[in-house]
Formats: sequence, C-alpha cells, structure tokens
Amino acid sequence: MEGKKESKKYKHSRQRERILEVLRSTKSHPTAAWVYNELKPTMPHLSLGTVYRNLRILGEQGEILILQNGSGPDRFDGDTRPHYHYICLRCGRVEDVPLPVNAELDAQAALVLNRPVLGHRLDFLGFCADCMGQKD
Ligand code: ZN
Ligand code: MN
Repeated sequence: MEGKKESKKYKHSRQRERILEVLRSTKSHPTAAWVYNELKPTMPHLSLGTVYRNLRILGEQGEILILQNGSGPDRFDGDTRPHYHYICLRCGRVEDVPLPVNAELDAQAALVLNRPVLGHRLDFLGFCADCMGQKD
C-alpha cells in the first residue's frame, strides 16, 4: 500500500537516480548547481530546474537531507544518518563533524519541554581551512 502510494506520487525517474548517485558519491554537501554541472556532460537534456525539483522530491522521500543555510543556496547531503555539520561563515562550505550525536541533549530538552523530543540538529560555525587566512 505504501509502495503503491509512492509510485503514484513519484514516477520512477532515471534522472533522480543519477542525482542520488552523485550526492552519495561526494562529501561536499553540494548545491543544486554543482550537481547539475556534474551531470550535464552525460545528461545533455538535463536542466537546473529539473535537478532542483528532483532534489526536493528526494528530500521529501527521506533519501537525502536538505540543508537550508540562511542567505546561501540550499545544500544537499546524501548521508541521512544523524550527524553534525561545521559551516564556514565566509564561503558557506559545509563539512561533517565526526562527533557522536549527543542523545543526552534530547533527554535534557524533553525534560525542559515536557514533551517527546525526536532528535536535534546542530551546526557548528566558523571558517573553513581555505577561508581561515582570508577572513575580513
Ligand atoms: Zn570557507
Ligand atoms: Mn553531512
């Protein structure tokens, strides 16, 4: 039943499969434009709009994470396991932080809120190695 519903809403798409492959093959948390440029040479009919629309769908399906980052363009992550990010305040680069997810934080928040907490998101802020030497 669940599968039927899904196949109606989301037509099987070769393009979407390729987009997912590209995202899963990189740790760079790319923008839609980067994914588009990556696929364009082998998929000449692809448009940036199609890439963006498929990334949205993959996000709704829980296949990828959509990282909304204030003023910068959305970035996308093929790794959906809970993990933390380090965001460069200068260039917007997103890196994974190899730190265990703190379940104690959920328990503390649940206590304060007096309601169940299903998880949390946490971004560390600073400057990436490239930007470290040239911050204004
Ligand atoms: Zn940077
Ligand atoms: Mn990540």
